[in-house]
Amino acid sequence: ALTIAIVGLPNVGKSTLFNALTKNQVLAANYPFATIEPNVGVVNLPDARLAALAEIFGSERILPAPVSFVDIAGIVKGASEGEGLGNKFLANIREADAIAQVVRGFTDEDVVHVDGKVDAASDLETINTELILADLQTLEKAEARFEKEVKGKKADPSTLVAVKAAREWLDTGKPLSASTVDLEPIRELGLLTAKPFIYVFNIDEGVLGDKAKLDELAALVAPAHAIFLDAKLESELIDLDPADAAELLESTGQEESGLDQLARIGFDTLGLQTYLTAGPKETRAWTIPKGAKAPQAAGVIHTDFEKGFIKAEVIGFEDLVETGSIAEARAKGKARIEGKDYVMQDGDVVEFRFNV
Ligand code: GDP
Repeated sequence: ALTIAIVGLPNVGKSTLFNALTKNQVLAANYPFATIEPNVGVVNLPDARLAALAEIFGSERILPAPVSFVDIAGIVKGASEGEGLGNKFLANIREADAIAQVVRGFTDEDVVHVDGKVDAASDLETINTELILADLQTLEKAEARFEKEVKGKKADPSTLVAVKAAREWLDTGKPLSASTVDLEPIRELGLLTAKPFIYVFNIDEGVLGDKAKLDELAALVAPAHAIFLDAKLESELIDLDPADAAELLESTGQEESGLDQLARIGFDTLGLQTYLTAGPKETRAWTIPKGAKAPQAAGVIHTDFEKGFIKAEVIGFEDLVETGSIAEARAKGKARIEGKDYVMQDGDVVEFRFNV
């Protein structure tokens, strides 16, 4: 499953945010047989189309696309040298698809900052340096191994080329995500700074509406995405019923909760989109990479669907809403039969035909 690791210095509000994520027990409710790890929180990708479809089909339930977050214990200066939780911590983020870095922007005399002052730029620097050092260490070990393996013809020489290019780049103090180094040959290393990053600024409720301040923080991490939220507010929102939560959110000048933003931007950062299936039992969103073709999309439902793929009947969401039913959409020529080369579009409503 798709996972985003949450990292950040101690006392920046990671646990507070994560508690809000885990109280949001969507996985437990939607997938009763799934095992839930204690350090995994899930948010549904908000999608207003699902309710509209469920209405048309009289669906018993709605299953949005889940986005999982893994809580990783605090990173500190020296983590790459094995200080604190060190290496175990780094092994955990290696497996994530993306990294969400929580940065403290809130001021509170009672909450100690590990470096003595609240300074987002300096915190970003600390964490990025640790991640770069960790990657350099990984590369150093890998270089020795690949040298042997290439000599013994057990690895391709492109692995060594990639390792050297990556080391040189990191020596300039910048993350691999900003480089043009071809990392494909050394994908297995799970290099941290090559992963997509999202920055989550945990700020005071009153600052959420301060456009100038937010722009200033966003500029620190551009072109990566910045999300602004108040972790304390998020944990309050999660305890309220939807109407009260909407009201509280509106009073802070926000249209979308931080958790919803996190799911949406996480999804986007990972280059994902959804297609939809609908029927009397359920209306459901399925996660696929942008550019996925019809058989690959079918494979997300079941591997047999991909193997035995024949064709897909596809109706655009808007067309379905406009015509009001599959039968009407067919009669008006809005239902298309697509083959194995069809590139899926976000919001396609699909029914697959396949051989078993
Ligand atoms: P972590 O170490 O990054 O997991 O940080 P915690 O979530 O444990 O938060 C550290 C302290 O900061 C706790 O006392 C929280 O109640 C407090 N805190 C977290 N988020 C906020 C916030 O948005 N505003 C304020 N004022 N305090 C917060």
